[in-house]
Parts: sequence; structure tokens; C-alpha cells
Amino acid sequence: MRLRVLGSSGTYPTPGRPCSAYLVEAGGTRVMLDAGPGAATALQEAVADHHLDAVVITHAHPDHCSDVFPLFNLLRFGPHACRGLPALAPEGVDATLAAFLGVGESHAFHQVFEWRSVGPEDTVPLGGIALAFARAEHQVPTLAVSLAAEGRRLVYSADTGPGGGLAALSAGADLLLCEATLPDGAAPGAWPYHLSAAQAGALAREAGVGRLLLTHLAPMLDPARSVAEAAAAFGGPVEWAAPGMEVQV
Ligand SMILES: [Zn+2]
Ligand SMILES: [Zn+2]
Repeated sequence: MRLRVLGSSGTYPTPGRPCSAYLVEAGGTRVMLDAGPGAATALQEAVADHHLDAVVITHAHPDHCSDVFPLFNLLRFGPHACRGLPALAPEGVDATLAAFLGVGESHAFHQVFEWRSVGPEDTVPLGGIALAFARAEHQVPTLAVSLAAEGRRLVYSADTGPGGGLAALSAGADLLLCEATLPDGAAPGAWPYHLSAAQAGALAREAGVGRLLLTHLAPMLDPARSVAEAAAAFGGPVEWAAPGMEVQV
């Protein structure tokens, strides 16, 4: 199983750093996780024919879903147009996105994407990859995602604070792609909907994951410092999910 980081900037993009978007590939199946600002461009840079087998939108915050719209136009009008691409998201996300476009069920937005609502505890086989979901602790309905294939397992936190189902979903995972939005030293509980790097490291240790990849860092944070803070709490290998990075899970 291979992970490719298309973008990892938390909350807003900066030059050369798109927001959350990742490709997971295994057994001939390619899944895109989130479509934050810059994702559609980064996808075309990473995959010449931009072929996808599914898209997962973890929640309806713009830094995770706003490039659904250019992706829709790419898949509708681009040189490799497609229809019926499975698009998995928490209930209501498809309606929220369609409302922005001002379109109804008969519009191509519901034909290019085959929207499917998923919830915590759901499991979904997608080609060679088995997906599972858990509730993230966030302001809006948000799902953490587990992807298993070829005897390996990757868990993506989406956006979450402490609590929720991420720790249980992550237990024993080979790789945890975990958000680390907050600066170290933020007052505990002051903002319960994101994690610091140290909190991500502690969660990785408790869940017994093999490796930790930090993502969704607030743009003003120094990734090297966040990695050091997470490593001190985790005690295992930690890296920052730099845009363009490829990882064998
Ligand atoms: Zn976010
Ligand atoms: Zn969010």
C-alpha cells in the first residue's frame, strides 16, 4: 500500500502547500482522501490521467472539500471524463456541496460523483482496499478513516480533538496519518477540536501504531519542531507529511 501526500496544510493553503488531500493506492485501487484547496491541481501533477476509484470527504470544512468543485469540472469536462465515481462522506455533505452549486439531484454533480453516506462503524470494501470509519471529535460531523490492504493498514485522523473514535480505530495500525494543528503549550481543553503534535504522539503511543506521519499543521508552525514534539511523546518514528511525499505503508 502506498500513500502519496498531495497537500497537508492545515486550515488554509500557502504557496506550494495545498490543503488536505492524499492518494492511497493498493491492489490496483486508488482512493483520494479529502479534496482541500489545491487538490485538483496536485492530483493532475501526481497522476497523468487523474484516474481515481473513489473519493472520501471526511467533513464539510473548506480546507477538506472545496476542491470537490474543480475536481467535478475536471472529471466532467476534462480529457479523461468519468461518471459514477464513488464519493464517500458523512451524511449531508453531498447536499451541502450541491447547495453551494445551487443544483438538484438531476444535475451532473450527482452523476459524476456517486455520493454515498457513511458513518462511524461502517465498513466499505473498495476494490483492493477495505475502508472503515470512526467518529472524529470535531465541530461538524467528521470521520476518521482506516484503509487496509495487502496485510497493511493506514489510519487517517481527518480533523479531530482528543476523544472520539480515532484511538480505537488506530490500534495496531502500521501508519497513522494524524493531524497536529495546534501549537505546543495550548491550554489543555482550550480548543477541543484539534490536536497538538504532542497529543498526536501520545495517541500514537497508546494505539501502538508503527509509524506516525504528522499532517494538517497550522501554516505558522515549524514542521521540524512539531516532529520533535510528537517524537518525544510517541517514542517511535515520526515524519511530517510534506507535499509530494510518497510513503510505503
Ligand atoms: Zn481542517
Ligand atoms: Zn475541520
